[in-house]
Parts: sequence; C-alpha cells; structure tokens
Amino acid sequence: MDKRVDVLVVEDSEESGRLFQMLIANAGLSARLAASGVEALAWLLDEGLRPRLILLDMQLPTLSGVDVVRRLRTNRDLAATRVIALTAHAMPGDRERFIAAGCDDYISKPIDTREFVRRVRAEVQAVRARRD
Ligand code: MN
Repeated sequence: MDKRVDVLVVEDSEESGRLFQMLIANAGLSARLAASGVEALAWLLDEGLRPRLILLDMQLPTLSGVDVVRRLRTNRDLAATRVIALTAHAMPGDRERFIAAGCDDYISKPIDTREFVRRVRAEVQAVRARRD
C-alpha cells in the first residue's frame, strides 16, 4: 500500500464516497476511501497510511467520527494531521463537539461540489507547502 495519499475519505455511504472520490480525482489529487472508522483506523494505526488530509464523516456505524478522531489523535504521527468533519443535519452544538474531539474544521453535507473541491485543494496544498 502506498502510505502517502492526499486525502483519506472515511464515508459509509457508498454513493457519497464515490462522489467525493470522483471530485478529488478530478482535482488531480489522490484519494483512498474507507467505508468505516474501523477500516480507517486499521490503515492509519496498523498499516501506517499517512494522508495529507482526512475527510471524516461523523455519522458512521460502530465507531463514530468522534471515536475515530479521538483514537487517531493519540498517535504521535497523526496528532497534527488535518481532519475535516463531514457533518449532515448537525444539531446545535455538534460542530463544537467535533472540533473539541479533535477535528480542525467541518464541511456540511450535502456538499456544494465547487466549494468542496476548493476547500480540499486548499487544504492539501497548505499541507504540501508546509511539509514536502
Ligand atoms: Mn454516514
């Protein structure tokens, strides 16, 4: 497995996952799609996947987005990795809770595709400029 990837998308909806992957690929960036938090954590913690950006659906079965971001923040290599929460039907206080759990920012679902691409590109370029 290539350990460097621009974006790790964690999304249990197959339809949304495919859309995000397509938009990211069309923007000229590389992406991997994890269908659950369990899969994402296995790649990140056990296999050493090091994405430049993580897009994390907060409504996931078994392990929630909050569980996932908390777990990955305990890993030294992942402590500073940008994590953007994907939030659908956020309740008042949810976004603050996601940020408090370790997310850096959020994108609301359903996404605005242009805005999504703009944000993802800007995030990845900022990380590349800093580290590569
Ligand atoms: Mn979901």
